[in-house]
Order: sequence, then structure tokens, then C-alpha cells
Amino acid sequence: MLAGRMMDFPLTVTHLLERARSYFPDTEIVSRRPDKSLVRHTYAEMHGRACQLANALTRLGVRKGARVATLSWNHVAHLEAYLAVPAMGAVVHTLNLRLHPNEITYIARHAEDEVVIVDHSLLPLFAKVRDGVPSIRHVIVVPDAGPAPEGSGHDYEALLAGERPEHDFPRLDENAAAMICYTSGTTGNPKGVVYSHRSTVLHTLVACMRDTIGVGEDDVVLPVVPMFHAAAWGLPYSAVATGAKLVFPGPHLDPASLLDLMAREKVTLAAGVPTIWIGILAALDAAPGTHDLSSMRTMIIGGSAAPASMIEGFQKRHGLEVTHAWGMTETNPLGTVARVKRSVAGRDEAQRLSARASQGYAVTFVEKRHVDDTGKVLPRDGETMGELEVRGPWVAASYYGDEGHDRWTSDGWFKTGDVVTIDADGYMRITDRSKDVIKSGGEWISSVALENALMAHPSVLEAAVFAARHPRWDERPLAAIVLKPGKTATNAELDAHLAGAFAKIWLPDDYLFVEQIPRTSTGKFLKSKLREQYGDHLMK
Ligand code: AMP
Repeated sequence: MLAGRMMDFPLTVTHLLERARSYFPDTEIVSRRPDKSLVRHTYAEMHGRACQLANALTRLGVRKGARVATLSWNHVAHLEAYLAVPAMGAVVHTLNLRLHPNEITYIARHAEDEVVIVDHSLLPLFAKVRDGVPSIRHVIVVPDAGPAPEGSGHDYEALLAGERPEHDFPRLDENAAAMICYTSGTTGNPKGVVYSHRSTVLHTLVACMRDTIGVGEDDVVLPVVPMFHAAAWGLPYSAVATGAKLVFPGPHLDPASLLDLMAREKVTLAAGVPTIWIGILAALDAAPGTHDLSSMRTMIIGGSAAPASMIEGFQKRHGLEVTHAWGMTETNPLGTVARVKRSVAGRDEAQRLSARASQGYAVTFVEKRHVDDTGKVLPRDGETMGELEVRGPWVAASYYGDEGHDRWTSDGWFKTGDVVTIDADGYMRITDRSKDVIKSGGEWISSVALENALMAHPSVLEAAVFAARHPRWDERPLAAIVLKPGKTATNAELDAHLAGAFAKIWLPDDYLFVEQIPRTSTGKFLKSKLREQYGDHLMK
């Protein structure tokens, strides 16, 4: 073999941080506080503050490999931890503030967090966690809602103020850990996924590609997706890598606050789970023309299936483009993006929409396939359902600790637990999580396909379809429906709405009209709860 003669230059987060100061010192980072006021920092200031944080953590005894946790909303201090902690060789661990305190305690203990950076506004939550995590040596309170109360820990701003705004970051091995993020653990305990510098950087580069998410210096990026949910889909790193302006919403994730921020800061790219966008679409429909979203280039939707009716509604009624993407905590998280390829662009509108509403095809360097129960690779015919498997440089090779080995195949693929079809163009469509699959008389029924169709009904705001036990068919689909305010719908109307598109045996046996659908900490429908509550509905 003739070896290449190029430099062995490590792919590290440190480079992103230093580059931001060199080339984009004046670019703004806007953060919304709990009292709704906005604070502004430049990249140069953020760089200085990240250095101060690294100096402070060094002084507190944080060594390479140590875990520094965050329990925070999206804001500039969280970004500083995203950059300073990995750059100094330690590991940033994003705790999910929507979890039950017992779960947060389990996760922080498992990761052996030494330092916790916590928002003042989240201190009541943290109080229920702290005593259960003996590894915690220091608490640093971000004074988002007032200075750190006596005895709660170090005040973040006071701590930084005592440090020099420069730090000599070490040269790191690109395979060193940069961040730990835990899965939401709807089955079994949450599991730690350890992103490396290399995986983070490669993910960032591919995320910035035009056909992926596409982030550039002239963008104004609003990560609505929390920074504790799979690294906010890498957007903070993508923005820093390119010098894009960042807008952080803090705790204000309601449609009115987000729309105000989008218009005020001229956001070009925003990202979040479908629930957020369902709310935003309803607000825009209720008051068309009130919000100036003319700067918006695209809205990234992922984390759960984006209904085609929503994608179409944004485009047709408000001229807004949606980009649908799929990923997992285990994939850093980007895996696929639903771009309309040249081969599809020439087809009719329904086919183009179907491509955009699919979960898309794999991004560069992620490989995907779907397999049957015996591991046989299935045909890309758009019909055969099987479990999705992926591999690539930012796909987890194992979990932190000694768990979950059964998630990897002997030939090196990660078993996602998602059931999909893949069509001849490579577009994948998620039909279910494997644990949510509905098996009726031996037939698989796709809950996601039914949900998407139901959410296209003019009276339906949200629909979750799940399996209920049935004396004859084992399982039958039931639909939990949240109606739009002031709207009505009957079972017969909903059946008629679905009948055109689905075989009769796919139609739900009943519709349950509910106030809200239970959700996981990251905004997905919690179907295990629905099954628990209504699983015997058809046995009576
Ligand atoms: P998490 O690790 O919490 O991000 O959850 C990952 C899971 O979310 C995936 O395995 C999918 O089941 C689901 N998911 C993510 N993106 C999508 C999407 N665009 N459509 C449907 N399901 C999705």
C-alpha cells in the first residue's frame, strides 16, 4: 500500500470554537431568558466566556474525561459548555430536564457526573436529584432567573468573572469523548451514547451540506429542539462551524413566543419536533399574515413523523418550506433527510409530496438497509416492511457501560428498532417503532400511516394509533384523537376519510376523543401509556 502523504490533523470541537472567534467575532448569539428578555453576545464574547469556563473548571479540578453535566434550556451558557467542556478534554453530559427526577438521578449516577451546570430556574428540579448523585463535587448555577441563591453552588457569571478570557486548549485525540447523551429509555433504562470529537465534527460537516440540513454563514439558526435532545440535532455545532447567527429560545417554546422570535430575529432555519410545528401551523392558520416569516428558508422537522398534511399546509397556505429528517440519539442524530431528488422532481405533485413526507434517504456516510426477523436484507420495493439498520462514522458502536449489546448485528450494523419500507429511489418510510407495531390476524398495520392520514382531516389536530388487545384478531388498531378547537368529527366520518386510502381491515376499531395524547420527554407519542390505559378497550 502506498500511504497518503497528508497531515494527520485531529477533527476536534476545539477547532470549531477557535475558528468562530477568528472569522466571525461580531456574529450574534441571542438568548431568551425566563422573563422573556433577550440577551446578546457575540462569538468573540462567547469564545472568551468559553475560555473562562474552561479555566474555572480546571480550577475546580475537572480533568480529562471527567463528566460535566448540564441541566439547562437552550441559551448561550449551554453553548459555552458544549464547546469549552469537550475542548478541554472533558465530556459534556446533557441532562434531559423533562424526565422524572428519579430518571435524571439514575442517568447522572450512571454517567458519574462530577460537575453540574444548572439553570437557576431549574433548581427546584435539581434539588430532587442532587442528593442521589454522590459523584457530584460542584454545582454551577446559571443565573437565568436571578443570581445563584446562597448555598446552591457557584454563580456561573461570578465564576467566569474571576477568570482570564483565554485558555490554552490541549491537542486532543479525535476519538476522545466529547459528549454523552442518554436515550429516552421508553423500554428499559436509558442508555448512554458517547459522541467523540471525530463523530461530532464529521456529523457537523455533513449536516452543513446543502442537501442535508444546509447551514451557512448567512443563516440565522433557531434550535427549538432542546440541547439535551441528541445535541439539538447538531445545530449549535453547525452554526459555530459556519459562523451562522444563533437564536436560543430559552424556556419559551409556545407558538406565540417562537413566532415572535422568528420574526424579530429574522430566523432563516429553525428545527423542532412535529408537536412544535403543529402548534405553529395552527397559530399561523388562525391569524394569517400577522407574523413576518419572510426570512425563513426552511424548517427542519424530525423526532417523530411529520404528517404530509402539515408539510403541505405550511407550503400551500403560508409559503413555508419544511424539511423532514430522521435520526436517533444513537446516530448523533442525523441519519436521513427527505430531499426531492432529481429523479423525483419531475413527477407529479402527489409523488413529490410523498417523497418530502417520507423519512428520506441516508445522508452522506450513513448506510441503511432493512431486514426481516432472520436478518435477511429486504427488497427496496416500497412495500416490504422490516427493521431499519444503519452504520456510519457517527453511529454508536456500543453504549456507555455494559448494556444493550443485542442492538448490534454480528456484521456491524446498529438495529434501530424502527420498522420501515424503502422504495426503489431509496426513500424510507417509517411505519412504526417495532415495539408499537400492530399485528392484527397476522397482518402488520402501520400506525404511522393511519396517523398521518387522520391528521389530514380538517377537524383533527393530533392522532395517535396504537394496538389494543382483541379476542379474535390478537390486536386491532385504536385511534386517540385530539380535535381542533371548536371542531367535531364522528367515527363514521373518520372511517369514511380513511376508507379511500386503506384496506378495510386497517381502519381503527374505535376512535377515542381525548384532551391530549401522552408524550415522551422528547415529544413523541407515548403509545405504551395509551396501551396501558386503553389496551383492554375492545375486550369488554
Ligand atoms: P431519539 O433517540 O429520542 O431521538 O428517538 C429516535 C427515534 O425517534 C427513532 O428511532 C424513530 O422511532 C423516531 N423518529 C425520529 N425521527 C423521526 C421521523 N422523522 N419520523 C418518524 N419517527 C422518527
